[in-house]
Amino acid sequence: MSDKNGVLLAIVVPVYNEGSNLKSFNEQLVKQAESVSSNSYEIIYIDDGSQDHSGVLLKDFCEANKNLRLISFSRNFGKEIATTAGIHEAEAQAIMTIDADGQHPIELISEFIKKWKAGAKVVIGVRNSNHGEGFVKRYGSKLFYKIFNRLTKVRLIEGSTDYRLIDSSVQQEFIKMTERSRITRGLIDWLGYKRDYIKFDANPRLSGEAGYSFRKLLKLAIDSTISMSLSPLYISAYIGAAVLPLSVLTGLFMIIDALIGDPLHLKATGSAYIVVFLVFLVGILLVSQGIIGLYLSHIHTETQNRPLYIVDKGRSINLYE
Ligand code: UDP
Ligand code: MG
Repeated sequence: MSDKNGVLLAIVVPVYNEGSNLKSFNEQLVKQAESVSSNSYEIIYIDDGSQDHSGVLLKDFCEANKNLRLISFSRNFGKEIATTAGIHEAEAQAIMTIDADGQHPIELISEFIKKWKAGAKVVIGVRNSNHGEGFVKRYGSKLFYKIFNRLTKVRLIEGSTDYRLIDSSVQQEFIKMTERSRITRGLIDWLGYKRDYIKFDANPRLSGEAGYSFRKLLKLAIDSTISMSLSPLYISAYIGAAVLPLSVLTGLFMIIDALIGDPLHLKATGSAYIVVFLVFLVGILLVSQGIIGLYLSHIHTETQNRPLYIVDKGRSINLYE
């Protein structure tokens, strides 16, 4: 990498099948970038293995404007990895990340820059509302913030998004983090630094569907909690410890039953006791095994030590090196 402080502003945009949105999005973004920092900007698009014509469009944009770069992934690696690749590539004093689907209001970029110039090292876009999001997704995300904040030492602000700005000093530290299962905003939050917030109303998607299904979001939520916290391991240990006295208590009941009959008139047969307890114990064993398995799988992927992403150099444009 050459001069790290090359331009004033870098804007990182992960793109996955956004063909129908990209033209108007790019026009607006370039206009805003030029008005904010004249010619001292770069826009880094990451084509995250799109199957539509996004790649072709992005190539055209980059050939027409030398301030635009394209990192083309060899396949779909997911938004978090795509954003990471863009942050790695950026060579600017301030680096912004924004979604390509038009949900993050482009005109606010100047506000982010203002807060950054006023001294904030991290400026975070916080969503007021999310039009057209289902009940499950809205309350699911509320629940996620609650659990995540309780289990980890990182404080995520509810509604905080990937629409954010980081200073190049934050970028330097971000680059050092090498874990594979990652949630970019979680890592940035973990880094700390002086931060400021900008509230915004999320626009509806320009077109197309959100690439993240509920199942994918749930997996992301579980993975990021597991990678940031060891508490779930303790929880299964605590449950195990709580079960022990319970089984002792039931044992006592059985002795009393045998000695003086059935004082509480439970009329439980011996096999009923056994069935209840077996089911209970098997359930607990499975849960704790599952939790251990989750950590094992994370250790597994981390120790494989594969590259975080693969760039198809032949299809990438205007990159450094
Ligand atoms: N995206 C990506 N890779 C993926 C899925 C999404 O790069 O596998 C991009 C997508 O093109 C968009 C941004 O990430 O620019 C946010 O995606 P989306 O709107 O689907 O997610 P949400 O709005 O639900 O966070
Ligand atoms: Mg979106």
